[in-house]
Amino acid sequence: MAEELELAAGNFIYDFITEDIAQGGKYEGKKVHTRFPPEPNGYLHIGHAKAICVDFGMAERFNGICNLRMDDTNPTKEDVEYVDAIKEDIAWLGFHWDDRFYFASEYFEQMYEYAVELIKKGLAYVCELTPEEMKANRGDLTHPAVSPYRDRPIEESLDLFERMKNGEFEDGKMTLRAKIDLNSGNFNMRDPVIYRINRISHHRTGDTWCIYPMYDFAHPLEDAIEGITHSLCTLEFEDHRPLYDWVINNTSVPAIPRQIEFARLGINNTVMSKRKLRQLVEDKYVNGWDDPRMPTLCGLRRRGYTPESIRNFCERIGVSKVNSVVEYSFLEHCLRDDLNEKAQRVMVVLNPVKLIITNYPEGMTEEFDVENNPNREEDGHRKITFSRECYIEADDFIEEKVKGYNRLYPGNEVRLKSAYIVKCTGCKKDENGKVIEVYAEYDPETRGGNTPDGRKVRGTIHWVDAENYVNAEVRLYDNLFTDPEPDTGDKNFLDYINPTSLVILKDCKAEKFVESAKVPSNYQFMRLGYFCLDKDSTPENLIFNRSVSLKDGFKKK
Ligand code: ATP
Ligand code: MG
Repeated sequence: MAEELELAAGNFIYDFITEDIAQGGKYEGKKVHTRFPPEPNGYLHIGHAKAICVDFGMAERFNGICNLRMDDTNPTKEDVEYVDAIKEDIAWLGFHWDDRFYFASEYFEQMYEYAVELIKKGLAYVCELTPEEMKANRGDLTHPAVSPYRDRPIEESLDLFERMKNGEFEDGKMTLRAKIDLNSGNFNMRDPVIYRINRISHHRTGDTWCIYPMYDFAHPLEDAIEGITHSLCTLEFEDHRPLYDWVINNTSVPAIPRQIEFARLGINNTVMSKRKLRQLVEDKYVNGWDDPRMPTLCGLRRRGYTPESIRNFCERIGVSKVNSVVEYSFLEHCLRDDLNEKAQRVMVVLNPVKLIITNYPEGMTEEFDVENNPNREEDGHRKITFSRECYIEADDFIEEKVKGYNRLYPGNEVRLKSAYIVKCTGCKKDENGKVIEVYAEYDPETRGGNTPDGRKVRGTIHWVDAENYVNAEVRLYDNLFTDPEPDTGDKNFLDYINPTSLVILKDCKAEKFVESAKVPSNYQFMRLGYFCLDKDSTPENLIFNRSVSLKDGFKKK
């Protein structure tokens, strides 16, 4: 852990901020103030978790503060439902914004005034090119853009802009453009549009506005209005930074924030854009935003991910200036790390077959005392019962010995975890040749792990007392996509949906103990993996989700 913290502390964002607040730095003596600005048009995903850990995490590290701001300047696709979900997810991760919760739409009036200020300074003008004309006049690397309305008188622009606001012109008829540099090698600086007419009702301001600011104009103003010192964002905004700075430098904003970019998180075998995730939900490829196969935070939570595992993952992948794709198995690795420490161990049989201990007295029942978690003595012990019949996994028995197979086959001995050593004597099959009962004899001398004569027993299998169990449904999940990079190049991610990403087992046998489970509860089903109670589970119909198997597929490169 110490090593990881050091690693994180050494990242370039940390270094920039350290410089900025040091003596002689541009924010000497100021409190570090960051923000996380999601657009409320979908649920947060693990990529957002990285940004959240960077934004809130940096503030925490410098004893600063971080605002939560809904970036709702674009009215087309926002929804109140998402706002609550976003708050829930961030709080779940363990970050706090106290009373610093804002909507960018609260600043529409101020943004309008800053736009007017630019016009008055001769730094913005109303343009009447259609979007197509504007595109055709953008120029290229050797030719400057052409903008015929650029030199219209300030008074005229002021008048037209006001009338744009008052709804006198139809959508798309006019825009307000910043007057910067038609020749710039950075196309974002070639007199970018900063306001457009768009008659769409806004989820908070309703029909008050029919003009809306563009992201590149709005975002620096939002940051400055809130007194943000460091505006941390993803790499695709690097080319927009000159415009960000231009807006800050040319308006009378109350603060001068600094934008710093870092790489987006991508994870293989999944997609990470809200648009694509929404499509999966709307076209019913998954069962909602919180489907445990989704990389959304609510999906991961339902899958059994803990906030600690996700924060640890974000910490360990670090921040860099180069976009890269992280192995899904690394995320799983971080979950295993956490659950190995925390999860209570229980025995559950997923594909049951009956094991009958033929020399065990009929009607007798014994209790064994087992540890709840070998990694946490304080989690105590519980009792499990044992009787003449129990359930074991069907694949823990084979009729004929195969090389390397150490479990049950006629003549072989295995240990029933925490109970006895048993020796397999045979099986019974139904008319289709399917094994329906396995027979064995137990050795009373081997109770509770005792091996009196020091004999070698190689296999240990889990079991559940057939006299004392609960039925459970268990849902096994696999990657949602068969292709590691389902949305690169001109691939259509929908062509790579994994048809077996969800397998439902209806007849699982669990220790009675899990009957009392409540969400969130993580278990290790011994020998099988980590599982958690699903939110749709009821005492009559217990449902568990496999969070991750025990086998660690992550290899350090
Ligand atoms: P999407 O493409 O999924 O819709 P977005 O960037 O449009 O993502 P926003 O709601 O605007 O989503 O994002 C809020 C913040 O989260 C932004 O600062 C953005 O840079 C950051 N963010 C989004 N996706 C990722 C990612 N994959 N990795 C790191 N940060 C991300
Ligand atoms: Mg966005």
